[in-house]
Amino acid sequence: MIHQLVYYSRNAVSGGDREMLTNMRDIVSASQRNNSRDGVTGFLIFDKTWFVQILEGERAKVVETYNRIGRDPRHTGATIINVRDVPDRLFPNWTMGGAMRTPEVQEVYLGHGIGGALDPAKLKSSQVIALALDLQAFEQAKRQPQRLVG
Ligand code: FAD
Repeated sequence: MIHQLVYYSRNAVSGGDREMLTNMRDIVSASQRNNSRDGVTGFLIFDKTWFVQILEGERAKVVETYNRIGRDPRHTGATIINVRDVPDRLFPNWTMGGAMRTPEVQEVYLGHGIGGALDPAKLKSSQVIALALDLQAFEQAKRQPQRLVG
Protein backbone atom coordinates (compact mmCIF):
# COMPACT_ATOMS: atom_id res chain seq x y z
CA MET A 1 0.00 0.00 0.00
CA ILE A 2 1.04 3.58 -0.59
CA HIS A 3 0.81 6.05 2.27
CA GLN A 4 -0.74 9.35 1.24
CA LEU A 5 -0.60 12.51 3.35
CA VAL A 6 -2.30 15.81 2.48
CA TYR A 7 -1.52 18.96 4.46
CA TYR A 8 -1.61 22.72 4.21
CA SER A 9 0.54 25.42 5.73
CA ARG A 10 0.91 29.17 5.67
CA ASN A 11 3.51 30.55 3.29
CA ALA A 12 6.16 32.49 5.26
CA VAL A 13 8.34 33.42 2.29
CA SER A 14 8.67 37.18 2.37
CA GLY A 15 9.35 39.56 -0.49
CA GLY A 16 7.89 39.90 -3.91
CA ASP A 17 7.40 37.62 -6.88
CA ARG A 18 11.14 37.28 -7.49
CA GLU A 19 11.91 36.08 -3.92
CA MET A 20 8.92 33.77 -4.06
CA LEU A 21 10.10 32.18 -7.30
CA THR A 22 13.70 31.82 -6.03
CA ASN A 23 12.50 30.15 -2.85
CA MET A 24 10.17 27.87 -4.74
CA ARG A 25 12.95 26.84 -7.10
CA ASP A 26 15.08 25.92 -4.03
CA ILE A 27 12.21 24.00 -2.43
CA VAL A 28 11.32 22.11 -5.60
CA SER A 29 14.99 21.32 -6.26
CA ALA A 30 15.56 19.94 -2.70
CA SER A 31 12.26 18.08 -2.96
CA GLN A 32 13.16 16.43 -6.24
CA ARG A 33 16.59 15.42 -4.90
CA ASN A 34 15.30 13.99 -1.61
CA ASN A 35 12.05 12.54 -2.87
CA SER A 36 13.78 10.76 -5.71
CA ARG A 37 16.12 9.15 -3.14
CA ASP A 38 13.22 8.26 -0.81
CA GLY A 39 10.68 7.09 -3.38
CA VAL A 40 8.32 9.91 -2.43
CA THR A 41 6.10 11.50 -5.05
CA GLY A 42 3.40 14.14 -4.90
CA PHE A 43 2.25 17.58 -5.78
CA LEU A 44 2.60 21.05 -4.28
CA ILE A 45 -0.06 23.69 -4.84
CA PHE A 46 0.85 27.17 -3.66
CA ASP A 47 0.05 30.83 -3.77
CA LYS A 48 1.46 33.79 -1.84
CA THR A 49 -0.48 32.78 1.28
CA TRP A 50 -0.74 29.00 1.32
CA PHE A 51 0.98 25.74 0.54
CA VAL A 52 -1.10 22.61 0.02
CA GLN A 53 0.88 19.45 -0.58
CA ILE A 54 0.22 15.80 -1.27
CA LEU A 55 2.98 13.34 -0.30
CA GLU A 56 2.84 9.67 -1.22
CA GLY A 57 5.18 6.72 -0.79
CA GLU A 58 6.32 4.23 1.82
CA ARG A 59 4.79 5.15 5.17
CA ALA A 60 8.09 5.70 7.04
CA LYS A 61 9.48 7.84 4.23
CA VAL A 62 6.34 9.97 3.97
CA VAL A 63 6.33 10.56 7.74
CA GLU A 64 10.06 11.37 7.73
CA THR A 65 9.60 13.79 4.82
CA TYR A 66 6.61 15.50 6.43
CA ASN A 67 8.48 15.90 9.72
CA ARG A 68 11.43 17.47 7.91
CA ILE A 69 9.15 19.80 5.95
CA GLY A 70 7.35 20.77 9.15
CA ARG A 71 10.57 22.22 10.58
CA ASP A 72 11.15 24.46 7.55
CA PRO A 73 10.96 28.17 8.45
CA ARG A 74 9.64 29.04 4.99
CA HIS A 75 6.16 28.08 6.19
CA THR A 76 4.22 27.85 9.45
CA GLY A 77 1.33 25.95 10.97
CA ALA A 78 1.52 22.78 8.90
CA THR A 79 -1.84 21.05 9.39
CA ILE A 80 -2.68 17.58 8.14
CA ILE A 81 -5.96 17.39 6.20
CA ASN A 82 -5.90 13.63 5.76
CA VAL A 83 -3.69 10.54 5.83
CA ARG A 84 -4.65 7.20 4.35
CA ASP A 85 -3.28 4.12 2.64
CA VAL A 86 -4.13 3.79 -1.04
CA PRO A 87 -3.39 1.01 -3.53
CA ASP A 88 -1.58 3.20 -6.08
CA ARG A 89 0.26 6.47 -6.44
CA LEU A 90 -1.65 9.37 -7.98
CA PHE A 91 1.51 11.20 -9.05
CA PRO A 92 3.88 8.38 -10.04
CA ASN A 93 5.94 10.53 -12.38
CA TRP A 94 6.38 13.53 -10.11
CA THR A 95 9.10 13.54 -7.44
CA MET A 96 7.43 16.83 -6.61
CA GLY A 97 5.33 18.59 -9.16
CA GLY A 98 4.29 22.08 -8.29
CA ALA A 99 1.96 24.74 -9.52
CA MET A 100 1.81 28.32 -8.39
CA ARG A 101 -1.54 29.99 -8.65
CA THR A 102 -1.19 32.39 -11.55
CA PRO A 103 -3.76 33.90 -13.92
CA GLU A 104 -2.74 31.16 -16.37
CA VAL A 105 -4.17 28.42 -14.13
CA GLN A 106 -7.17 30.39 -12.90
CA GLU A 107 -9.39 28.43 -15.27
CA VAL A 108 -8.35 25.19 -13.55
CA TYR A 109 -9.24 26.67 -10.14
CA LEU A 110 -12.58 27.90 -11.48
CA GLY A 111 -13.30 24.39 -12.69
CA HIS A 112 -13.12 23.36 -9.03
CA GLY A 113 -15.35 26.18 -7.83
CA ILE A 114 -12.43 28.22 -6.45
CA GLY A 115 -12.87 31.72 -7.83
CA GLY A 116 -11.56 33.76 -4.92
CA ALA A 117 -8.89 33.27 -2.30
CA LEU A 118 -7.85 29.72 -1.51
CA ASP A 119 -8.98 28.59 1.95
CA PRO A 120 -7.31 25.22 2.50
CA ALA A 121 -8.84 24.82 5.96
CA LYS A 122 -12.19 24.36 4.19
CA LEU A 123 -10.92 21.88 1.60
CA LYS A 124 -11.40 18.13 1.82
CA SER A 125 -8.47 15.98 0.74
CA SER A 126 -10.55 14.71 -2.20
CA GLN A 127 -10.93 18.31 -3.44
CA VAL A 128 -7.19 18.96 -3.03
CA ILE A 129 -6.39 15.79 -4.96
CA ALA A 130 -8.84 16.57 -7.76
CA LEU A 131 -7.41 20.09 -8.12
CA ALA A 132 -3.82 18.78 -8.03
CA LEU A 133 -4.57 16.18 -10.72
CA ASP A 134 -5.99 18.85 -13.01
CA LEU A 135 -3.06 21.18 -12.31
CA GLN A 136 -0.73 18.28 -13.03
CA ALA A 137 -2.47 17.66 -16.35
CA PHE A 138 -2.15 21.36 -17.16
CA GLU A 139 1.57 21.36 -16.28
CA GLN A 140 2.17 18.12 -18.16
CA ALA A 141 0.71 19.64 -21.26
CA LYS A 142 3.35 22.37 -20.96
CA ARG A 143 6.51 20.41 -20.17
CA GLN A 144 8.06 16.99 -19.65
CA PRO A 145 7.48 15.56 -16.16
CA GLN A 146 10.39 14.82 -13.80
CA ARG A 147 10.63 11.03 -13.69
CA LEU A 148 11.18 9.12 -10.48
CA VAL A 149 14.49 7.28 -10.73
CA GLY A 150 14.49 3.54 -10.07
P1 FAD B 1 19.34 21.51 2.21
O1 FAD B 1 18.44 21.80 1.04
O2 FAD B 1 20.80 21.34 1.94
O3 FAD B 1 19.08 22.54 3.36
C1 FAD B 1 19.78 22.48 4.61
C2 FAD B 1 18.93 23.11 5.69
O4 FAD B 1 18.73 24.50 5.41
C3 FAD B 1 17.57 22.48 5.83
O5 FAD B 1 17.21 22.43 7.19
C4 FAD B 1 16.66 23.44 5.10
O6 FAD B 1 15.32 23.39 5.60
C5 FAD B 1 17.34 24.78 5.36
N1 FAD B 1 17.12 25.76 4.27
C6 FAD B 1 17.55 25.63 3.01
N2 FAD B 1 17.22 26.72 2.28
C7 FAD B 1 16.57 27.56 3.14
C8 FAD B 1 15.99 28.85 3.02
N3 FAD B 1 16.00 29.50 1.86
N4 FAD B 1 15.42 29.39 4.10
C9 FAD B 1 15.40 28.73 5.28
N5 FAD B 1 15.93 27.52 5.48
C10 FAD B 1 16.51 26.94 4.42
N6 FAD B 1 11.68 18.67 1.00
C11 FAD B 1 11.64 17.41 0.55
O7 FAD B 1 12.62 16.68 0.67
N7 FAD B 1 10.51 16.93 -0.05
C12 FAD B 1 9.38 17.68 -0.21
O8 FAD B 1 8.40 17.19 -0.79
C13 FAD B 1 9.41 19.00 0.28
N8 FAD B 1 8.32 19.80 0.19
C14 FAD B 1 8.34 21.04 0.77
C15 FAD B 1 7.18 21.81 0.76
C16 FAD B 1 7.17 23.05 1.38
C17 FAD B 1 5.90 23.86 1.39
C18 FAD B 1 8.35 23.56 1.97
C19 FAD B 1 8.35 24.91 2.62
C20 FAD B 1 9.51 22.81 1.96
C21 FAD B 1 9.52 21.55 1.36
N9 FAD B 1 10.66 20.76 1.35
C22 FAD B 1 10.61 19.47 0.88
C23 FAD B 1 11.95 21.27 1.84
C24 FAD B 1 12.22 20.76 3.24
O9 FAD B 1 11.50 21.53 4.17
C25 FAD B 1 13.71 20.85 3.55
O10 FAD B 1 14.18 22.17 3.36
C26 FAD B 1 14.52 19.93 2.66
O11 FAD B 1 13.95 18.65 2.62
C27 FAD B 1 15.94 19.86 3.20
O12 FAD B 1 16.71 19.27 2.21
P2 FAD B 1 18.20 18.85 2.53
O13 FAD B 1 18.21 17.93 3.70
O14 FAD B 1 18.78 18.37 1.25
O15 FAD B 1 18.89 20.16 3.02
